[in-house]
Amino acid sequence: LDLSSDWDYAPAPESTGHINLKKKYDLFIGGKFVKPKSGKYFKTINPANEEVLAEVAEADEKDIDLAVKAARKAFNGEWSKISGKERGKYIYRIARLIQERAREFAVIEALDGGKPLREARDIDVPLAAAHFFYYAGWADKLDYAFPNRNPQALGVAGQITPWNFPMLMIAWKIAPALAAGNCVVLKPAETTPLTALKLAEVIKDAGLPAGVVNIVTGYGTTGSHIVNHPDVDKIAFTGSTGVGKIIMKAIAGTGKKSTMELGGKAANIIFEDAPLDQAIEGVVNGIFFNQGHVCCAGSRLFVQESVYDVVMRKLRDRIEALRLGDPLDKNTDVGAINSKKQLETIKKYIKIGIEEGADMYQPKCKVPKKGYWCPPTLFTNVAQSNIIAKEEIFGPVLAVQTFRTVDEVISKANNTPYGLSAGVWTDKGSKIFNMTSQMRAGVVWANTYNKFDPTSPFGGYKESGHGREGGLHGLEPYLKLS
Ligand code: NAD
Repeated sequence: LDLSSDWDYAPAPESTGHINLKKKYDLFIGGKFVKPKSGKYFKTINPANEEVLAEVAEADEKDIDLAVKAARKAFNGEWSKISGKERGKYIYRIARLIQERAREFAVIEALDGGKPLREARDIDVPLAAAHFFYYAGWADKLDYAFPNRNPQALGVAGQITPWNFPMLMIAWKIAPALAAGNCVVLKPAETTPLTALKLAEVIKDAGLPAGVVNIVTGYGTTGSHIVNHPDVDKIAFTGSTGVGKIIMKAIAGTGKKSTMELGGKAANIIFEDAPLDQAIEGVVNGIFFNQGHVCCAGSRLFVQESVYDVVMRKLRDRIEALRLGDPLDKNTDVGAINSKKQLETIKKYIKIGIEEGADMYQPKCKVPKKGYWCPPTLFTNVAQSNIIAKEEIFGPVLAVQTFRTVDEVISKANNTPYGLSAGVWTDKGSKIFNMTSQMRAGVVWANTYNKFDPTSPFGGYKESGHGREGGLHGLEPYLKLS
């Protein structure tokens, strides 16, 4: 399938020269940047133009052992001796430093990941700071949060994060772990390690005792060394369901605790009584925000039959107006696909959708000559049994189906191995309550979509994982409670 033959081309976006990136990044272990024992480095590139941004250390088993030892030493030493109030001060300091360097973080996030700068600036970075602020507040209130349950830190948390919200996912992991009094060994995703390494600089500047947070870079094998290390007490993983299953098998019987934030295939449901223009905005945001690289992306749209024609007309018009291109251009709505591999996966699913007999629509848009790009893609005439309606694509691809009754749409929406999120668009409060109680999804948004707040727990049912991140619920998995 060569969709690209229909595309118009534009010049590749240029990388900015005004960001303070090093050529080479080492591992952050024991409060210092250290060369990897492996001696190996890998390249991280800008997916919008395929230029190399930096080289990054690839940690092997020995490096991970050093990182875990540094974390254990800090846990047995200084970190467990200071009060919750003092811990909180360090976490507040991290939050404030993120705010001070927000522009730098946002630009690096856009360069390394391909997401529009506007999104990184308005959502990823402020929300990451907000998570640190929020959990800083809990650090000295654990006894109040868990009365009569003697909350104690677990020890060393191994944390592994994905590439779609690199910095935000790291904040979701590190902030509650520190608030609960743990030490951390964290591995960011291989295609987006740079904001994690910038955060290591912030952690150093915040004066955290050496070894409390260690940031180690590498591929999946590096992650598996963390998972299999005998001195790690807990694994917090965000990523694909496939890798989540591998990790659960690896830690079975070891006594290691786990939280798994995995994939999704969310239903976004428009009823005939919905505020339609608002719903269209929510649907577009639900699937095209961050190029659809969102675990809770509303990738299945269900439209009540009576409003199907008007919804589709409005939806196409809105998609037609989306601007694809340079992530650093503040007018861009759809940025670059994160990696060549992910682009191939998305193209594979688009091909399958066409072969399955669904109707594919992409707006005319100029696609940069270099880099990885996929225009917003809409599939109609989709059957419940189609692969594009069942599997997570993790790209800007929306599969539309119709329904007549509430019961029908609940059964269709729940007919998935996933259960992370859902959206409901209706004017009737009673319908919202009915839907939220019957949908098997960790989050159900009503007349809005993709809204996040550090106070709200987030997490899945079924193959979308277990455990919650965010809110008070997000502290509990980092504590021993009696
Ligand atoms: P992925 O599973 O390929 O990789 C995630 C992380 O795991 C990376 O850091 C990777 O290097 C590491 N890894 C890979 N193999 C490993 C192994 N055997 N042992 C230990 N670590 C290993 O996922 P991805 O492609 O980076 O991210 C996309 C997926 O993440 C999607 O499925 C998405 O739905 C999911 N996700 C879920 C949430 C959530 O909160 N539920 C949030 C964001 C992303």
